[in-house]
Amino acid sequence: MLIVSGTVKQRYGRIAVIMFGASVYALFWLGLVQYGYLQVTTPAFPVLIGIWIAGLFALLLADGVRQERFEASALTLTKAVWCNLGVVATALLVPHPVRLLILVAPLFGILYSALLLDRRQMLFVSLVTWLTYLGGNLLLIRYGDTDFAFEAVIAVAFTVMLAAMAYMAGEVTALRSAFDRRRDRLNKAMEQLAELAMRDELTGLYNRRYIMEVLKRQKALADRGHVGFTLCYCDLDHFKQVNDRFGHLFGDRVLHDFADLAAGVVRSVDFVARIGGEEFLMILVGADADTASNVAKRLGERTRQMCAVPVDGPGDEAFRLTVSTGIATFKSGERVEDVIQRADQALYRAKSEGRDGIIIEA
Ligand code: GH3
Ligand code: MG
Ligand code: MG
Repeated sequence: MLIVSGTVKQRYGRIAVIMFGASVYALFWLGLVQYGYLQVTTPAFPVLIGIWIAGLFALLLADGVRQERFEASALTLTKAVWCNLGVVATALLVPHPVRLLILVAPLFGILYSALLLDRRQMLFVSLVTWLTYLGGNLLLIRYGDTDFAFEAVIAVAFTVMLAAMAYMAGEVTALRSAFDRRRDRLNKAMEQLAELAMRDELTGLYNRRYIMEVLKRQKALADRGHVGFTLCYCDLDHFKQVNDRFGHLFGDRVLHDFADLAAGVVRSVDFVARIGGEEFLMILVGADADTASNVAKRLGERTRQMCAVPVDGPGDEAFRLTVSTGIATFKSGERVEDVIQRADQALYRAKSEGRDGIIIEA
């Protein structure tokens, strides 16, 4: 079976477009030659062929380079320069009035650049177009049989039109970049909103809503035989007294500091959330009950240490802050609510057995 990946398909698609463009271009010439507008015998004809072949190689090269370093602009810029260079050179080899008609085409090339490239690149395309026209004209005046005054009038008119088109195209690129900047700001704001929506405001931990999403995801993974998880349901002991004795603001600070401790005892693959007033839930990914128990022990020790030194808080009054933890390991197939409930029951037992302890739900 032949498997063609999306990128390979895209790549061949782009090459097909390039080949199509080159063929249209070649057919256009053939038409000009066929109807006598372009002499194959003119000395400049090899120059045209040179531009055609060089452009084709440059396009294929830019397409290859684009894969590695550049944005799509490498290809688009090459296309626009190749197109305008070739068309202007062709126009100069064709007699009037067909030449005038052909000279309109590069203006569209500039407009195309404005839609897909940045301002500098668009100005580069305009400059190349103008210089090709000017250089070609000088060569015609030097070696060809041209009416200088007539060509000078055409040259001025072409320059004015080119400048006007480049100016308008500049406005388009300015609009486009303003739009891009606004879109980037909007994307950033949306990312910030999404981040805010998953965080608890006071502690910066995940909030209840987000941790429930995570739990569902972890359950799905565990049910499919991937990594399991263990929950630690933590509740600060007699927290009401902390508020009553030292005030709500101090209570808030304690909650914040405890959150930092909790986040510090787990690994980066784990999740910690504040799911209620002074209640926290930890998801220890891939951990069994014993590992979870060690994590809870570490958290318990650090909580006791934290409160030995009450900084800037309630004067010299020392207070003891302890935490009780219930632990439950997810059993394949059970509901998320069930494993939370089992952890909650273990927590309840830890409370009733005197607090500042850890109970593993059997
Ligand atoms: P237990 O050991 O049985 O858990 O006793 P407790 O006092 O910790 O539990 P209880 O549920 O009776 O009280 C919880 C307290 O947590 C009550 C409330 O004042 C406090 N609390 C809840 N949310 C916040 C908060 O955001 N900030 C502060 N400072 N306190 C809070
Ligand atoms: Mg509570
Ligand atoms: Mg409590």
